[in-house]
Amino acid sequence: MSFNLEIPVRVISGENAVVDNAFIFKEFGRKCLIVTSGSAAVKSGALDDIKTALENEKIEYGIFDSITENPKTSDCFEAGEIARRFGADFIIGTGGGSPLDAAKAIAVYTANPKISSPDLIYTIPVENKPLPVVLIGTTAGTGSEVTCVSVLTNETGKKKSVKGKNYYAAVVLADCKYTYSMPFSVTVSTALDALCHATESYLSAKADERSREYSEKAISLVWNELVSLLKTQKNPDEEQRDRLYDASIYAGLAIEKTGCCFPHTVGYFLTEKHGIPHGRACAVFLPEYVKRGLKFKPEMTSRLLKIMDTDFADFEKTVLSLADVKINLDKNELENYLANWEKAVNFDNSPGGFSKEDAKCLIEKLFE
Ligand code: NAP
Ligand code: FE
Repeated sequence: MSFNLEIPVRVISGENAVVDNAFIFKEFGRKCLIVTSGSAAVKSGALDDIKTALENEKIEYGIFDSITENPKTSDCFEAGEIARRFGADFIIGTGGGSPLDAAKAIAVYTANPKISSPDLIYTIPVENKPLPVVLIGTTAGTGSEVTCVSVLTNETGKKKSVKGKNYYAAVVLADCKYTYSMPFSVTVSTALDALCHATESYLSAKADERSREYSEKAISLVWNELVSLLKTQKNPDEEQRDRLYDASIYAGLAIEKTGCCFPHTVGYFLTEKHGIPHGRACAVFLPEYVKRGLKFKPEMTSRLLKIMDTDFADFEKTVLSLADVKINLDKNELENYLANWEKAVNFDNSPGGFSKEDAKCLIEKLFE
């Protein structure tokens, strides 16, 4: 087997992982900023557990809870200033992928005042080691816990990632119970995100044997749950939640190796311009991705469908029904947008390659 893998994140997974491992926080200092979004950390119970753990260890904390979906560089920049003034030694990010990604960026802003305005995070080199980050997720989809990527929305409203070794968490405390409070719509969208990560990675030009093993594991866990979500239109039980959470971590490990391919890149258009949640926005392009897989990587793609015990027609129907994306397509708006995809690396890694013209045709086919 040939592979190349380095993931310097310590992941501790299990029931009561936060309170039972409270001693770990002490490794990082005496003061921390908890970074979260409007309601996830409260509804999931994660915030209560984090407070208990910090209080048990006599660690002083502040809370920044203004992170929105598709986190903005401006909010992360502001939180970085707050963390610096507070004298935070470390950052805890809790919630879905949005606050987790935000926490990684905030750790960079806090330690690097030379990044003196929000979007300079994309261009100014990170000179000082970011604050250590502890991540405690409440959704099952992004796998942000294990990736060195932070997807931010810049000051012009575009989703753009920062990545590299400065964006790894130090520790992940993974307790699936925090995902139990996700509403059905968030459960569906995040599970679709995990399916996209695993599938995009599997057929990517950058995949290797190990990353494909992660994808296969993720797909075997997530697919039956997606079928069940479509059939029952009800939230999963606790065992199913467990499987969805595991799937999201395995799929995260897969994209950590390969990055995503065109469904993600094109999906950003639907989120930025039409407010479609991330997982559903990417998933609507996934059947076309698999179709191209069947053409350019037929054996591998057939293996993928076999793992799901399905055929292409059923795969397409299931994914499109769950994604359920309807938009009023403005052709001028799309035309203006195309320049963003001129040199998209993620396009090249897709089976058979992909171009901005292909993206335009696909969007028109799906939404006209
Ligand atoms: P999210 O944007 O963090 O949250 C979506 C919604 O779910 C919010 O309304 C949130 O509520 C709610 N929510 C989250 N957990 C909940 C819980 N346990 N109970 C009740 N409500 C809950 O969702 P996400 O899909 O996990 O993250 C998407 C972001 O991650 C996107 O920006 C995407 O680009 C990024 N992403 C990053 C990576 C990576 O490798 N770094 C990979 C894929 C995607 P509140 O806002 O009220 O708290
Ligand atoms: Fe994603």
